[in-house]
Amino acid sequence: MAKHKIAIIGLGKIAQDQHLPVIDKNSDFELVGVTSQRGLGHGAVPSFKTPAEMYAAVPDIEAVAICTPPDVRHAIARQAIDAGKDVLLEKPPAATLAEFADLEAYAASKGRVLFATWHSQFNPAVDATKALLAEAGVKSIRIEWREDVKKWHPGQDWVWEPGGFGVFDPGINALSIFVKIMPTPPFVKSAELTYPANRQTPIGAKLVFSSADPANPTLTADFDWREQGDEKWHMMIETGDGRRVRLYKGGTILEIDGKIVVEAPSEEYERIYVRFAELLDKRESDVDGAPLRLVADAMLVGRRQTTDAFDW
Ligand code: NAP
Repeated sequence: MAKHKIAIIGLGKIAQDQHLPVIDKNSDFELVGVTSQRGLGHGAVPSFKTPAEMYAAVPDIEAVAICTPPDVRHAIARQAIDAGKDVLLEKPPAATLAEFADLEAYAASKGRVLFATWHSQFNPAVDATKALLAEAGVKSIRIEWREDVKKWHPGQDWVWEPGGFGVFDPGINALSIFVKIMPTPPFVKSAELTYPANRQTPIGAKLVFSSADPANPTLTADFDWREQGDEKWHMMIETGDGRRVRLYKGGTILEIDGKIVVEAPSEEYERIYVRFAELLDKRESDVDGAPLRLVADAMLVGRRQTTDAFDW
């Protein structure tokens, strides 16, 4: 089958760390254009300042990967759909639920493939945890997703602006795993959101969830951007039959009762592009709004606290 001609919009950290190298080595894709406001490029691939210029100059682009901050994704995705392109969205897929619903409906109405990616879901240990919990049930899940914002978002002021998600930018990765592994849908019961005095988005969030499970498991999450040293991206789980489970290192390692049962290198973006090729070949979309809904609900029910001002 011919390679899918793809372009990347926004050559920031994640595009450079993952999308560019992963597309380069995937034989199902050929990178035929990039859009960079700052005029960055990638080898001999033509680079443009705006998507409109790129679509005019390279009309055979079939799909775009939108790697911008989330607040501009909706407009860029709609423009791509109008130009007849299939679309891969970095996470979070949109800044609001209404924008997200619109993209899903609009892509469907125009017959375009839409893939809302959740990179943390693309781990074998996450799949194995989902299978385990489907069989054994859940007594409790305690999520800890703590990292240093200065390490993971150096100088990115957009994360502190309205629509920038704050600590939910990494937290939504944990939530994307959580909704995948939970046998029944979780709901945000309460949220404590901690805002730096000089910023518009939270630096910390503590969430308590309920679920449709009659066994009423204990479900909590602690997201924090003030962690020093190594990041802590893990979930401590007790299954319905009493097994102690740890899903850690961002969902790459599964340990049951002290024994590692799944450990795989992080190849999330490699798997994302395998999945995107499948979706393009089948002309199907993959659009799951559950992680975004939990973030929105945390904002709806959250209690606000203020802490020290944050500066880089
Ligand atoms: P980033 O380094 O700030 O890159 C975003 C890039 O988008 C900018 O460098 C800019 O690139 C472009 N851009 C910025 N504002 C724009 C606008 N108004 N219109 C069009 N393009 C604009 O951010 P990032 O860390 O790559 O994050 C981007 C997305 O990827 C976020 O949603 C984030 O959650 C997700 N993500 C990030 C990571 C990570 O490790 N950082 C991991 C997984 C997912 P040009 O100047 O080249 O246009």
